[in-house]
Amino acid sequence: MPRNDLIESTYEQALKFARQTPYPKYEQRIETLEKLKQVIIRNKNEINTALFNDLGKSEYESQISEMTFVIDEIDVHLKNLKKWMSPRKVKTPLVLQPGSSQITPEPFGLVLIIGPWNYPLNLIATPLIGSIAAGNITILKPSELAPHTSKILVKISKELNSPFLHALEGGVGETTQLLEKKFDHIFFTGSPRVGKIIMSAAAKHLTPVTLELGGKSPTVIWGDQDLDIVASRIIWGKLINTGQTCVAPDYLIVQEKLKKELIEKLKNKITEFYGNDPINSPDYGKIINENNFNRLISLIEKDKVLLGGESIKEKLKIAPTLVESDLDSPIMKEEIFGPILPIISIKELSEIDHIIALNPRPLVMYLFTLDQSLVDYTEKNFKAGALCVNDTIIQISNFHLPFGGIGNSGMGSYHGIHSFDNFSHFKPVIKRKQMLDLTLRYPPYEGKLKPTLKLLKWFGH
Ligand code: NAD
Repeated sequence: MPRNDLIESTYEQALKFARQTPYPKYEQRIETLEKLKQVIIRNKNEINTALFNDLGKSEYESQISEMTFVIDEIDVHLKNLKKWMSPRKVKTPLVLQPGSSQITPEPFGLVLIIGPWNYPLNLIATPLIGSIAAGNITILKPSELAPHTSKILVKISKELNSPFLHALEGGVGETTQLLEKKFDHIFFTGSPRVGKIIMSAAAKHLTPVTLELGGKSPTVIWGDQDLDIVASRIIWGKLINTGQTCVAPDYLIVQEKLKKELIEKLKNKITEFYGNDPINSPDYGKIINENNFNRLISLIEKDKVLLGGESIKEKLKIAPTLVESDLDSPIMKEEIFGPILPIISIKELSEIDHIIALNPRPLVMYLFTLDQSLVDYTEKNFKAGALCVNDTIIQISNFHLPFGGIGNSGMGSYHGIHSFDNFSHFKPVIKRKQMLDLTLRYPPYEGKLKPTLKLLKWFGH
């Protein structure tokens, strides 16, 4: 069937089922999640191969940052779904007695999830889990730039053979066609540029959106501390998935007196982790495509390179690259999303505010310090999707924490209960009895204002 016909028929089918099944039962949701888990596990080898073909990911990275992440998320949902689905009881003021009040989570209905290419399984499957758990019918649109994983996701959806899930392959044209349709919620992960396109398409139908976007996440290193650990954590967070991670440390702001030693440690860590020829290490991936390869190469100012800078165009590989930057460098003007790490040094702590303010609100703010007052200051003075102190990236692995951006780095959040909540409408429900009818609220109002205000003051909260 031609792709646009497939999109039409899939949408009609999914919409029909969503309208016929507005409140899927707990058992249906659990069964779908369990089947999803089995199908993913059954396809483990093919998923690993697809991730290798798309991004050159090592089996270790594929397992840790994609497969295991998704399976754990399913397990968290299986364990907690009953509790999360239950109405959340709230107080009922005396003036509304006899009565009871609760907040009942209900499914939105038909959901569209659009994914990026960098963690092409994780960033489609993790929101999908929340959407299924919350009782929605979901259409997935994986990224065309990770075509092998996109194919596997369609295969998984076919093997699951469930009316709760459909997967459609395609690029800009297909996504545009989908966006013309009315959904009850759209969940998008990708760039702020495309996020704006998604939001304006959604606005035509007044469809609510979750936008998981990107940005330049700063990493501040200030004060005496164990620079060996600092370097390990920065290099790991920067180079996992070859720097193509939305929450990767984008650039470093380091205290001048620490700079020399930190740079030495960063260099040593690159060799320790990836050997003397990191670009050819089996643990080091490739850039997704030629466009991004060329974009990244153009960001490397040769005279500022401290380490790396080499590339192999035929293999889309760029070596881990450290550069000494200043605020006017082109690399400081856009999200890097690759294995290049600019280092900026500062003498005064107050310079941080100015540097960070040059870019829109980031997805994460990283801070390495042993100074508690600086931690407190950072927490209360820098707006970011998240704050992570003395580490990188690991904040996303705590399912108790919401994962999402602020401003230019996104809106809405997910993971664990936050996924269930993100894909639910919280319906306020109040149930009263047909007795004790206070007549003060009914017209005629003459003489009733004062006693009504008194009543509300004493019994209204
Ligand atoms: P992208 O915005 O180019 O593409 C994302 C999706 O949008 C793809 O499925 C693509 O097919 C679709 N798309 C692209 N152009 C479109 C258009 N004109 N109209 C409709 N749909 C379109 O993003 P990407 O290159 O896949 O990913 C990189 C970006 O995503 C970075 O900015 C990164 O920070 C961000 N990101 C954010 C997160 C997060 O969780 N916050 C995770 C991964 C990536």
